[in-house]
Amino acid sequence: MKILVTGGAGFIGSHLVEALLDRGDEVWVMDDLSTGRFENIAHLEDNPKFHYTIDTILDVRVLNEHVAKVDAVFHLAAAVGVAYIIENPLQSLETNIKGTEYVLQAANEGKKKVMIFSTSEIYGKANHQPCKETDDRILGTTTIARWGYSSAKAIDEFLSLAYHREKQLPVVIVRCFNTCGPRQTGQYGMVIPRFVKQALLDHPITVYGDGKQTRCFCEVSDVVRAVLALMDEPKAVGEVFNVGSNVPISIEELATRIKELTGSHSQIEYIPYDKAYEEGFEDMRERVPDLEKIKEFVGYEPQVTLQELLERVVEHFRK
Ligand code: UDP
Repeated sequence: MKILVTGGAGFIGSHLVEALLDRGDEVWVMDDLSTGRFENIAHLEDNPKFHYTIDTILDVRVLNEHVAKVDAVFHLAAAVGVAYIIENPLQSLETNIKGTEYVLQAANEGKKKVMIFSTSEIYGKANHQPCKETDDRILGTTTIARWGYSSAKAIDEFLSLAYHREKQLPVVIVRCFNTCGPRQTGQYGMVIPRFVKQALLDHPITVYGDGKQTRCFCEVSDVVRAVLALMDEPKAVGEVFNVGSNVPISIEELATRIKELTGSHSQIEYIPYDKAYEEGFEDMRERVPDLEKIKEFVGYEPQVTLQELLERVVEHFRK
């Protein structure tokens, strides 16, 4: 098949592109390198089935040309990372709302199948776990940038479902929970690459809040396997799926595990949220995906353990 991956030079996108090429697809990437990096795809340059354009998806003419060429689109181009969103709220909202709208419009021209990458941030301050796809969203006030990101991604989901219902556009929506692995950078806030880098440099490991908050971390290869299976499953069209791992760990425990794994002399330092992010910042105490639906549709279960995930990230940073 011919596939367009928007955001294909990003962390998840570049792993997805590799998997598509491995199975024999011809792949086009559009990426403006805002949070993606050329080095993530540089090793693919000589592959005759790989093509890339460094441009924003907000460039509608270029986007339309790309979408017209392919059979299906994986739409990952977005502003990501809690720290990045807080620092760049306007650009984040524009990319995440307009960008997805343009991708849906372009896909609709030829009724191209499109997968929209959404996020567990959709659930906001969910007051029970695990989060099921049909659960209510619980969000804070508009002065907190995090909820703008959550809302923008929710608009993307509404738009996608409306295109599906009213225009019969084949869309699949995935809500990725904390995804990690080689090539993820800590620059935009993500905790595992930040802790690993800090530990390897013997710098303080910066735990935000009391460190008792938990997350479930999923290795990127598990996520790629899940989204490929969903894209190939006709019954998944018009549906929303959680994708991730459902094994929680506290951030404090994560810091200790990474410190031990790297043999680091780092101190573990606790930093209040207000200092780490912005005044009034709200964090989720826990966030666990309910994985029943994706298991039922494509038999997905995560396979890579947290230990293996951490080892892969450490090895990547050491290299
Ligand atoms: N976190 C932390 N130290 C850091 C970066 C993040 O303690 O240097 C915390 C963050 O406050 C959150 C968790 O780690 O509770 C996961 O953060 P991340 O940004 O990776 O993902 P998300 O907040 O989207 O779950």
